[in-house]
Amino acid sequence: MSDLVPFLPWHEAHARQWLSQRERFAHAWLIHGLPGIGKRQFALAAAASLLCESPVQSLACGHCAACQWLAHGNHPDLRRIRPDAVAYEEGAGPNDAESSPVGAAKKAPSKDIRIDQLRALGSWFNTATHRGGWRVAVLYPARAMNQITANALLKVLEEPPAHTVFLLVADAPDRLLPTLVSRCRRLPLAVPGPEESLSWLTQQGVDQAADWLAAAGGAPLLAQALSRMEGSPCPEWLQDFVAAIMSGPGADVGPLADKLEKTSPEVWIDALQRLFLDLLLAASQSPVRYYPSISKQTVRIADMASRANLADTAKWLNQQRAVAGHPLNAKLFVHSALQRATLACAPQV
Ligand SMILES: [Zn+2]
Repeated sequence: MSDLVPFLPWHEAHARQWLSQRERFAHAWLIHGLPGIGKRQFALAAAASLLCESPVQSLACGHCAACQWLAHGNHPDLRRIRPDAVAYEEGAGPNDAESSPVGAAKKAPSKDIRIDQLRALGSWFNTATHRGGWRVAVLYPARAMNQITANALLKVLEEPPAHTVFLLVADAPDRLLPTLVSRCRRLPLAVPGPEESLSWLTQQGVDQAADWLAAAGGAPLLAQALSRMEGSPCPEWLQDFVAAIMSGPGADVGPLADKLEKTSPEVWIDALQRLFLDLLLAASQSPVRYYPSISKQTVRIADMASRANLADTAKWLNQQRAVAGHPLNAKLFVHSALQRATLACAPQV
């Protein structure tokens, strides 16, 4: 797996400026911003630029020995610290041989950053870096650290090893250990402008780029991921759901719930959350944001439903999103969520 990752076009100028001050670079950075804007790629591209032996305008040259090592995924001074589940998603093996002993029962790969991954850094810090350059640890997503792992990292950052830069990637820094956050310099990344995102999506061969970008709330990498996962920017089941609500009271959500049961709850809750944000926008006479293709129906529903009910359910969906990774009963969960959403959309009497 190559570690020689380029910056995304909307990050390049910002990155150049940031990396040009590398002589007085902080030893820990918290790179944060909305999901789907390319923070992980930013961190990896930054690591490549820091490790490059002859950077061109502060960015990795792509040709030197260090860049070659990165391209082959074996630069000794780079570490990716991420959960095994993320490593698999990226097409790499587990983080160490220990986690999948031969002949052991197959376990689902861990979604957490494990304490031994941080302990293993000790010996890395004690090894001299190549030609006395940087050592870069890229850690993502930061929320995959539990209290114990976060405290272990805090210890490291309190007495930072020489020549070492930590790049932490997070969607929401306020959900991290505050003492850890206070040890890092913050580097917020903004959502790119729609024109830049649209031209990039079109270059990537995404059809209906504007609708996908809307469905992703303006985040281009999320838009690309959605376009690969779903059949249309507004999921078909959501169109069916809205049609069922429009058909009048007493809509039966049973068949729809049965269909959705096998979909990951994160995916359908996200879509319901977006629908409800659109409903709330429509209720306050603002243009919808996520699903312009069904805006006619959204506006009709918002006109007739109780705004308080819509707001309550939007809030409830946010709370459910936090526990969606571990529903006690997937079938019951999707049924009750759809029922609640239907009731909230019912015309006011
Ligand atoms: Zn280079």
